[in-house]
Amino acid sequence: MELFAVPDLPEIRPGHDLAALIRERVDLRPDDVVCVASTVVSKAEGRAADRSEFPAGPRAREIVSNRAAETDEGPPPWFVQAVLEESVEVLVENPFLLTETRFGHIGVNAGIDRSNVPSADLLLLPKHPSESAARIREGLPADRVVVTDTCGRPFRHGQRGVAIGWAGLAPGRDWRGETDRDGRELGITVESVADELAAAANLLAGEGDDGTPVVVVRDFEWGDHGESDAHFREVETDVVRRAIRAWSNRG
Ligand code: GDP
Ligand code: MN
Ligand code: MN
Repeated sequence: MELFAVPDLPEIRPGHDLAALIRERVDLRPDDVVCVASTVVSKAEGRAADRSEFPAGPRAREIVSNRAAETDEGPPPWFVQAVLEESVEVLVENPFLLTETRFGHIGVNAGIDRSNVPSADLLLLPKHPSESAARIREGLPADRVVVTDTCGRPFRHGQRGVAIGWAGLAPGRDWRGETDRDGRELGITVESVADELAAAANLLAGEGDDGTPVVVVRDFEWGDHGESDAHFREVETDVVRRAIRAWSNRG
């Protein structure tokens, strides 16, 4: 497989047609996977915002004052308010905010960015990244689109790209029922191929001033496997999430 970044994309502004901008710069093939950083999807969808739009309510002020008791410097109240408004559940509020967004993704600060956002205080994630992916896909000759974000993970240092939206592909590649080299049947492996493609794309996109938010994955061999639409875990079967809930309500 081959990955390359789409060159010469401009600073993205509200109303920009990302599909058209991509189409004008690369000759896409139907089986290409187009990975788009959520940052530019958000910018095109007008998700940049100013602090004045998030006057802090009591919950935000409470989180800020609890934080101040434990650390020297907490986030500003308007930022916490924005995180709360983007979220359906706060899993951790100290020493960082870990929340579930309205579309089911769990991330620090609800994925709200303060970098690569000129002339605004913050950039919210797209409202429905899979719907964004579907809209972008409609404007492209490529059949698959993944919307990515850079995200931290538990147990390990460092951030990496994950898929927060997708269209034209199942996020999981299901190996269950296939066999390993010894003929032993695989019982549980559903490979998150959407996350793996997002991570590869993110590797090329960079995190700073590279200006390469769109990466094309070409000639990826999907193989003959089952598919799984499951991506974000359901609360009922998410052991880690339930443990965090219990810990958060510890008193
Ligand atoms: P995120 O991972 O979606 O939060 O996005 P990042 O802030 O890490 O940016 C990913 C890539 O997109 C980096 O190469 C940035 O320089 C680039 N980028 C961000 N915004 C823009 C933009 O408006 N135009 C262009 N051309 N590149 C951008
Ligand atoms: Mn981000
Ligand atoms: Mn990034």
